Amino acid sequence: MSAHPSAMAPAVAPAVDLPQLLATARRFVHEELIPIEGTLLQAEWPAIEAQLAPLRERARALGLWAPFLPPAYGGRALSLPAYARLSEVLGWTPFGHYACNCQAPDVGNMELLLLAGSDAQRTAFLDPLARGAVRSCFAMTEPEHAGSNPVWLSTRAVRDGDAYVITGHKWFTSSADGAAFAIVMAVTDPEAAPHARASQLLVPLDSPGFMLVRNIPVMGERGGGWASHAEVRFDGVRVPAAHLLGTAGQGFALAQERLGPGRIHHCMRWIGICERALDLMCRRAIGRALGPGERLADKQQVQFWIAESRIAIHAARLMVLDAADRMDREGQAAARDEIAYIKVFVANTLQQILDRAIQVHGALGMTDDTPLAWWYRHERAARIYDGADEVHKAVIARRILKAYAS
Ligand SMILES: Cc1cc2nc3c(=O)[nH]c(=O)nc-3n(C[C@H](O)[C@H](O)[C@H](O)COP(=O)(O)OP(=O)(O)OC[C@H]3O[C@@H](n4cnc5c(N)ncnc54)[C@H](O)[C@@H]3O)c2cc1C
Repeated sequence: MSAHPSAMAPAVAPAVDLPQLLATARRFVHEELIPIEGTLLQAEWPAIEAQLAPLRERARALGLWAPFLPPAYGGRALSLPAYARLSEVLGWTPFGHYACNCQAPDVGNMELLLLAGSDAQRTAFLDPLARGAVRSCFAMTEPEHAGSNPVWLSTRAVRDGDAYVITGHKWFTSSADGAAFAIVMAVTDPEAAPHARASQLLVPLDSPGFMLVRNIPVMGERGGGWASHAEVRFDGVRVPAAHLLGTAGQGFALAQERLGPGRIHHCMRWIGICERALDLMCRRAIGRALGPGERLADKQQVQFWIAESRIAIHAARLMVLDAADRMDREGQAAARDEIAYIKVFVANTLQQILDRAIQVHGALGMTDDTPLAWWYRHERAARIYDGADEVHKAVIARRILKAYAS
């Protein structure tokens, strides 16, 4: 069997001129995506997908395609800090990451397949994902169990000859609607130690026994396609044993591997949203007259919001780039504190700045004439997914207190 293309890729990727790449991304976002986002935010997924298809080709031509992937997969092999910088630029519009094929949850799944996939798994699952020919999803959370305790799962994958048979109930499986496959977390050995019970399996969603129960309405929006969160069932779904990702019992460890860089990606995307919200806030404050010769921007409260937002964004960016740099140089375990800090700090900064921006816009802020309300609805979840605020804070505090325990 011939080696997978990634095995033949040059060990050192061609150097990327990051300032130039960021400038290209900025132009793409401002000149080609932001002008159509108003239409996209009010359209159904099939229309959005169709309108974005040529723009995805454009992103590919501009060298913005799946930039975190190695060149053998059409990417630019950006380091984590470099990709974080790009992610901020793409975050200025809700469709920036999708246009460049680096949207969650696919980005995390591509990273997982690169990390733990066999040659055959990469050919069958990573190649089409990297090309943008298919989408994927990640099914871990179950409605019956607290997602905050990731080792408590009911979904089972039982070995039967040369196959696994999966039975379980998941929800908030983002982007399952129309996805070609899921990476499913399922218990393979209920008697093992808690962190070694589950495994990850690649499950084509056209397999008999898979059912998409519904796209769950989130803050009033059911969404569709990539922009949706599904409740799904696996009712005796049979997949070849070769669809096991990594080794049996490695599911939790792989989930942790996926989450580390994933939190950096989310945080930098949120900083992009914060910058856009601040930009909109300033434009509205200058442009809105409260009376003849009196602008909203002249009010001290509005000035404070603008200044406080700028300070918080600056702090957030420095914190995230610091965490990305540490993870890049020393690995995920070394950066675990920094990752917890940013997950809490940036998610809360995001929520506060979006709230201020909406307040400054008055009734206009509640409409979908700006992207603020869309983000406010969809990004409230930032304080819940990938570890709720309280979980990260508890972990941070426990580590600090350890030094004081006798
Ligand atoms: C928009 C969105 C997209 C998502 N996408 C995916 C996806 O693609 N795939 C997937 O598998 N899952 C996904 N999830 C699920 C997500 O991972 C879970 O919601 C998350 O892990 C929290 O689990 P839970 O909802 O069961 O809340 P619970 O675990 O029930 O926690 C509820 C609340 O309890 C509090 N709490 C929990 N633990 C502690 C503690 N130790 N100390 C103090 N307070 C605590 C927190 O305030 C928390 O918000 C998504 C969720 C959302 C909202």
